[in-house]
Amino acid sequence: MNLCEFCDRDKIWEKHKANSDRIAQYYANSQFEDYCQRIIDCGNFLKFEVVSGEIKLLNAKFCRIRYCPVCQWRRSLQWKARAYKTIPTVVNDFPRDRWLFLTLTVKNCPVKCLRKTLNEMHLSFKRLTKLKEWRARGWIKSTEVTLGHDGLAHPHFHCLLMVPASYFSGSYYLSHAKWVQLWQRSLKIDYLPVVDLKAIKKADNPTVLIPEILKYQTKVKDLISDREWLIELTRQLHKTRSIAIGGVLKSYLRQLEEQFEELPEEDEIENCDRETIYFSWNPHQKIYQKSDNLDY
Ligand SMILES: [Zn+2]
Repeated sequence: MNLCEFCDRDKIWEKHKANSDRIAQYYANSQFEDYCQRIIDCGNFLKFEVVSGEIKLLNAKFCRIRYCPVCQWRRSLQWKARAYKTIPTVVNDFPRDRWLFLTLTVKNCPVKCLRKTLNEMHLSFKRLTKLKEWRARGWIKSTEVTLGHDGLAHPHFHCLLMVPASYFSGSYYLSHAKWVQLWQRSLKIDYLPVVDLKAIKKADNPTVLIPEILKYQTKVKDLISDREWLIELTRQLHKTRSIAIGGVLKSYLRQLEEQFEELPEEDEIENCDRETIYFSWNPHQKIYQKSDNLDY
């Protein structure tokens, strides 16, 4: 029996693990050669607890490499779980505040210039938060890099901003055109950058945007599309941070920011009463097969 047959919902494991095998091959014979074996060994054995026909991961060994599709997926799930837990407390503490979803972009750049471009963007974002027009008292900024149709890198920020209710009244309000102008001024560039702005309705909870904010830094389809691009991306983004938190949100989410680049250990509590099931990865058939025990 394979994992997919046991629980159809969990075929996502096989999808991510199959992509991991591809990424591992891309890293072979590159300057990141050591990533290759670590990714191959990542999530090879899975131990689940069975509760009412559903399975919950109890134990697995992960490689924790940023672009491993299995680890990227697990990390994103954990970030989201933490944010879903914390944001309602913020909403409770600041019930009159409103939330904006702001996407800030620049022109696409060659992947070789990505580190330099992102450094300039981070500095520009800092300048933006210092402008007198900046009204957000808390924000989460996540960096995403996609592969453009032109083969260039498309770096951009997704930001969740928390603004006082007064933002929507009188002179404090910023139109879309004004946001474009402010981002242009902060970037010190001569073209109008693409900016997307969405206000969350008064009655809606900002948690609806968490999947947008805390998604992958680079989509899996972009990671597997071109080996050279992946290797240069890995080089350019080495030791860079993908999530930053500012203003009053820092005190709520600081701990999360520090742990954002980490992948916490899975629950390893042993309990004899638990019904457990083991699966091991078959790299040839690209399926997880039921096995008798964890053969670490
Ligand atoms: Zn991994």
